[in-house]
Amino acid sequence: MRNTFLTFGAPDLQATEIAEVVAALEAGWIGTGPRVHQFEHDFATYKHLPSSRVAAVNSCTAALHLSLIAAELGPGDEVITSALTFCATVNAIIHCGAQPVLADVDPVTLNLDPDDVARRITPRTRALLPVHFAGRPCDMDRLRDLAQAHNLIVIEDCAHAVEGEYHGQPLGTLGDFGCFSFYVTKNVTCGEGGMIIARNEEHIQRIKRLALHGLSQDAWQRFSDRGYKHYQVTECGYKYNMMDLQAAIGIHQLARIEDSWLRRQRLWDRYQKALSSLPLTRPAEPDPETRHALHLYTVLVDAERTGLTRDTVLEKLHDRNIGAGVHYLSLPEHPYYQERYGWEPDDWPQAKRIGRQTLSLPLSPKLHDSDQDDIIGALQEFCASA
Ligand SMILES: *Cc1c(COP(=O)(O)O)cnc(C)c1O
Repeated sequence: MRNTFLTFGAPDLQATEIAEVVAALEAGWIGTGPRVHQFEHDFATYKHLPSSRVAAVNSCTAALHLSLIAAELGPGDEVITSALTFCATVNAIIHCGAQPVLADVDPVTLNLDPDDVARRITPRTRALLPVHFAGRPCDMDRLRDLAQAHNLIVIEDCAHAVEGEYHGQPLGTLGDFGCFSFYVTKNVTCGEGGMIIARNEEHIQRIKRLALHGLSQDAWQRFSDRGYKHYQVTECGYKYNMMDLQAAIGIHQLARIEDSWLRRQRLWDRYQKALSSLPLTRPAEPDPETRHALHLYTVLVDAERTGLTRDTVLEKLHDRNIGAGVHYLSLPEHPYYQERYGWEPDDWPQAKRIGRQTLSLPLSPKLHDSDQDDIIGALQEFCASA
């Protein structure tokens, strides 16, 4: 029995992040400023893009919302996304005024099933919003073919997938927009934060204005030592800008991104081997020709096969001082969407089943092998005594 609680998704924060935050505090510039600029530059470089193609914001939810607005989606438009995703994906669609349409997932990849997407396209469909679930790239060839055939915009939800690549191309650059999260549990964290990649630089310029009240560009420089600058309100925007305090963390998280990925790959491989003899469904191996971002290690607990329900395993892990996650109960299980859209979980059978069976085991790069041995040992015991 562990004597300390193992927090699910604990961030791996090191001395470099701490020193940079302190330096930002000491500089006295904690709002949007040079560190955000630097973080955008570093992120663009990581994605082999010029800085003019990216914009930092304060969450992936904001990134999705602004991408949908920049794509000029609104009332009367339908946007197709996955039934197995975080609520923020669909809430952003609702916030822009469009109608969310859910498609079911492929039971092996847990990503949007292109055949089900095709069935749900109507004359009002304007965009596809694929989610690279757990870090595994979606079938972008098929989704882009559908988008081309029906003249649809593609917005990638890359919240899990900052390191991902599809046929050699970085995720977030395959669609018209790519949206990233730097929430605490994500592969790169700023505490809270997000980033947008757009194919079109003009979209980035508009997104930057919208993220700061709709003020004319470079408004954040109005307090600089270059003299006071009058700003103009060009449209009714939002308050979605990233702070230098957040970017200070992100800059060093991003600098260590490959080391973290390698560490998670080792943890992932150890889980795959150690759990192979247990009555659990392990994640499918990554597709060749893609790079999996290894954000979540999810197993399926089928009560008939395992002898335990998913929720029992969650409770038993918690009793052993091990925090686990659920990604996700399918969206149609939630009362708000049921009431507003009449959605019923049975209309998305794969997402429903997976949502009720799925369990995410800790995969933080901070995890020691001995922590992982505790998790594996606990699962072996539960299965043996079931
Ligand atoms: C975390 C997450 C989001 C939202 O990210 P925030 O930065 O917390 O707004 C969106 N989509 C998916 C799939 C996520 O996991």
